[in-house]
Amino acid sequence: MYRIQQVKLPIDHKEDDLWIKAAEALRIKKEDIKDVSIFRKSIDARKKDEILFIYALDVETYKNVKISKRNTNVSLVEPFIYDVEVTGEKELNNRPVVVGSGPAGLFCALLLAEKGYRPIILERGRMVEDRVKDVEKFWKDGILNVRSNIQFGEGGAGTFSDGKLNTLIKDRSKRGKKVLEEMIEAGAPAEIAYVNKPHIGTDLLRNVIVNIRKKIISLGGTFRFEECLTDIMIKDDAVYRIITENDIIETDVLVLAIGHSARDTFEMLNSKLKLEAKPFAIGLRIEHPQKMINEAQYGEMAGNPLLGPADYKFVHKSKNGRSVYTFCMCPGGVVTASSSEEGGVITNGMSFYDRDLENANSAIVVQISPEDFGGLEAPLAGVEFQRYWERKAYEAGGGNYRAPVQLFKDFKEKKISASFGEIYPTYRPGCTFANLWDCLPDYVCESIAEGITAFGKLLANFDRPDAILTGVETRTSSPVRITRNSEMQASIKGIYPCGEGSGYAGGIMSAAIDGLKVAEQILKIYKPFKEQE
Ligand SMILES: Cc1cc2nc3c(=O)[nH]c(=O)nc-3n(C[C@H](O)[C@H](O)[C@H](O)COP(=O)(O)OP(=O)(O)OC[C@H]3O[C@@H](n4cnc5c(N)ncnc54)[C@H](O)[C@@H]3O)c2cc1C
Repeated sequence: MYRIQQVKLPIDHKEDDLWIKAAEALRIKKEDIKDVSIFRKSIDARKKDEILFIYALDVETYKNVKISKRNTNVSLVEPFIYDVEVTGEKELNNRPVVVGSGPAGLFCALLLAEKGYRPIILERGRMVEDRVKDVEKFWKDGILNVRSNIQFGEGGAGTFSDGKLNTLIKDRSKRGKKVLEEMIEAGAPAEIAYVNKPHIGTDLLRNVIVNIRKKIISLGGTFRFEECLTDIMIKDDAVYRIITENDIIETDVLVLAIGHSARDTFEMLNSKLKLEAKPFAIGLRIEHPQKMINEAQYGEMAGNPLLGPADYKFVHKSKNGRSVYTFCMCPGGVVTASSSEEGGVITNGMSFYDRDLENANSAIVVQISPEDFGGLEAPLAGVEFQRYWERKAYEAGGGNYRAPVQLFKDFKEKKISASFGEIYPTYRPGCTFANLWDCLPDYVCESIAEGITAFGKLLANFDRPDAILTGVETRTSSPVRITRNSEMQASIKGIYPCGEGSGYAGGIMSAAIDGLKVAEQILKIYKPFKEQE
């Protein structure tokens, strides 16, 4: 198969143009081509009057093609195959247990199930269908279910998200490809395999999660919802039993895919495993009209359905030395109330697949290191730091999970806003005008004010006076790392920290890939459980 990079075409090109371009690049006739598929597709909007799609194409031909060394855009590639073998020799006494059904836990369990290990998946939250009702109730009435919310429940933290599926990880192992292929099989649109910035939105993602659950069950896995891991029993430096609220489970392999918000579990683990504080970021959500972002990025082509809603990504080094950057940008979406604990207000962002709502939002966050919160002395100090500011935001919002909100012009002057401009906040159950400087450390607010002003030079009107700021965004990544060795095991044998909660992944894709990596390690050490029955 031949891969052709840098194929540039106008955005309204025809399907046939891909074949014509492929034939030109390979210097063969179109009839000599068996198939053309898109490996990657991105948008080049540098010239607003000539926006292009840039493709990488995979081309199969009927006969061999000689590739000129000077033609660096053409190369010979092998088709995608992700396959890992079971090489482990050690007997498993019991079924492996995966704690958490977020992307890390789901993909770890999927590979284990495919290879015959019959994993048990423990999830403290509820199944997607019930969880959606719990989250809707919270957004409507401010009644929080601490067991089933935007952080906890089937599918993990990403279930109510924009479903962005991009990752910075280089995919030499093809694990990323495996994750996307599985999602497509489970109902995601085929384009996620090749678009540069794939996303599926919360609406499609929910269905995908349910179908992956069904696949794992069909392969011998068992899901136990509304069951929280509460303790771990250790003998001879190895796990042999775990305790849940409802049961005692014997197991010699325990995958901890618990996400970044399992604060009670981190506390329990702190006395058993080696944990350390890690850097993370905190800040605020900003909202603009999506139309304004489209016009700034695409000029006269704004609104063209072939381009879809535009996004952005910026970073700025502020005068106090800290990086401030946009994070988790959601085109045409809403700011979500994302609490998992009583008395704390937390923001995040979510879009549907069509990304067709009025406002664009993103987090504007500032890097925090363990030195900022006493993390060098206490591994869980970052959790306390998050909690402190989340409670401040709750107070400033006036209770009932209303969020504090401020216009950018007033934020710069530390003044409580009196009325909205042209933009209205999307956060539910509601907002209260407040001074956001009361809800974050001063050094964070200074960097945010400076960052938004700097981003206004990169995208017209980003720093508009009536841009809405809602706080606080504290759960950007885990404040804790559960350390693991080269075999991905914690300081106790048989325990595998995995995904975002382990502190080694961030985002849906990297967490899912980490889940596969952990499963691969288990395959290397243990035989499938079914062999002993
Ligand atoms: C609103 C929102 C929007 C987001 N948008 C995006 C996006 O567009 N793209 C992106 O890449 N990332 C996004 N993220 C981040 C992404 O969701 C996370 O990085 C990812 O879900 C981490 O996966 P994980 O499997 O490691 O952990 P999680 O998804 O957090 O899953 C952990 C699971 O473990 C369960 N659990 C925890 N403790 C226990 C216990 N003791 N017993 C039993 N179960 C337990 C939890 O209930 C949870 O379901 C978003 C997050 C949020 C909250």
